[in-house]
Amino acid sequence: MTALTIALSKGRILDEALPLLASAGIVPTEDPETSRKLFLPTSRPRVSIVLVRASDVPTYVQWGAADLGVAGKDVLLEHGGQGLYQPVDLGIARCRMSVATRRGYDWEGTVQRGARIRVATKYVSIAREHFAAKGMHVDLIKLYGSMELAPLSGLADAIVDLVSTGNTLKANDLVEVETIMPITSRLIANPAALKLKRDAVKPLVDALAAASASNRAGP
Ligand code: AMP
Repeated sequence: MTALTIALSKGRILDEALPLLASAGIVPTEDPETSRKLFLPTSRPRVSIVLVRASDVPTYVQWGAADLGVAGKDVLLEHGGQGLYQPVDLGIARCRMSVATRRGYDWEGTVQRGARIRVATKYVSIAREHFAAKGMHVDLIKLYGSMELAPLSGLADAIVDLVSTGNTLKANDLVEVETIMPITSRLIANPAALKLKRDAVKPLVDALAAASASNRAGP
């Protein structure tokens, strides 16, 4: 049987991808949250899960170190998506990419005046494209975490970040002033693996598409 490797990242994607994989007959033989192993065997012989940082998942799949992976649309847009197929929107880890400012900051007025705005974000490509499409001149400041701190400390006027419940913004006295796009996680595949390991990959892609169908159903 063909060996298959699936790249996942710990946290929300892992939590929401495991039930989909289980319905395709793939269950890790150790608990991924507590195991220190980065390569996890599964109930399916020769199918393993590799645990990597969320932003590294596309790279592992692009270079064929993993045949399949699960990555957020945010991560895929920042990566660029070169050398990857995206066969299924799994509809998991659902959230949105938004612009947020301190409560009371006059975002509308500042935008209308055409004032230059400083925006801090980990998602520089998404932010650049969003503001360019609106014809806004912004200075983008790349951060690697704790973006909520940027408007509070005076580093930036606004941030571009993922918002799910909105609790993180609320806890830091920030408000969402624009929604850029909805975000979900997608199944990604190495194009060569799709061809050369088709007998193993195709049934798994189909099973994951079927298992996630209800996640994509509209309201
Ligand atoms: P929340 O407080 O529920 O709005 O969640 C916001 C925080 O969780 C922010 O720090 C986000 O960067 C992070 N977050 C929310 N949803 C996701 C997701 N799907 N993937 C990665 N990070 C997320």
